[in-house]
Amino acid sequence: MKQRAEPDAGVLYVVGTPIGHLGDLSPRARALLIAVDTIACEDTRHSGQLLSALGSKARRCSFHQHNTHTRIPQLLEELRDGRSVAVISDAGLPGISDPGEELVRAAREANHGVICIPGPCAATTALVSSGLPSGRFCFEGFLPTKGRERKERLEDLAVEQRTTVLYEAPHRLLKLLEELAEHCGGERPLQVGRELTKRHEEQVGPSVKAALEHFAQHAPQGEFTLVLGGATAREVPQYSDERCLEELRELIKRGLKASEAARELAPASGRSRRELYALLHEAEKQAD
Ligand code: SAM
Repeated sequence: MKQRAEPDAGVLYVVGTPIGHLGDLSPRARALLIAVDTIACEDTRHSGQLLSALGSKARRCSFHQHNTHTRIPQLLEELRDGRSVAVISDAGLPGISDPGEELVRAAREANHGVICIPGPCAATTALVSSGLPSGRFCFEGFLPTKGRERKERLEDLAVEQRTTVLYEAPHRLLKLLEELAEHCGGERPLQVGRELTKRHEEQVGPSVKAALEHFAQHAPQGEFTLVLGGATAREVPQYSDERCLEELRELIKRGLKASEAARELAPASGRSRRELYALLHEAEKQAD
């Protein structure tokens, strides 16, 4: 099939770059990064090495979480002027725990074409090499670093029946493994993908307990993506809608707010906090 010429004027390209192995840069990504007018890089110095090695003469500008709001209007103006723009992150796919999402939304809202040149992504790479069910899965990225939000996400994971993919920094890995053991149990299947696509790539599993024991002995170094097996139906008590509503109303009668009641009931009911909140909301709407 004949492909249309790239880059096209006024189009934003979301380009995947390697997560380790430089051979994973696709020929199409390479050609685009050489020919495009402007490249918005998460870190110009980091991506500079790759771009210089390719011989790309494209204008480079930084695009990261701290300058998103000033940069987006500038990049949209370039697109309006008929220039082509690529966005890349330090590694992998922009928009996956990396800058990109807001720029894509803004470009779409301004009716510019957006084309993804797909490439490696740590989440899918870890998932398909884990051996855990990949038919249905969720992506959590980095959990909130502390507080109630983190606890709530961990409680959701305790009852989540789909495989879940998480990112974690090396200095926080042990803490996360301890928390997963506490909330999901040590026997929960887990595969930790370390340094994927790189020279020291390894997989550590097959359970939370096994990974915890391993990393207690071998200090975590490098980059990590965790693939957590889902809770089995047996582990997840399933209260009926009626029972959930009854217990939620009882908690509210005792002085809890709706969101607090949902959080309180989630672990015992086998439902997520969001599900319970929505159930209550729906029941109240129908009662009105
Ligand atoms: N956008 C990237 C992607 O598509 O994979 C993810 C960016 S996120 C800021 C970086 C996190 O991805 C790392 O902290 C680590 O959890 C995970 N990661 C990136 N490269 C990895 C690799 N080679 N092996 C394992 N995990 C990796």
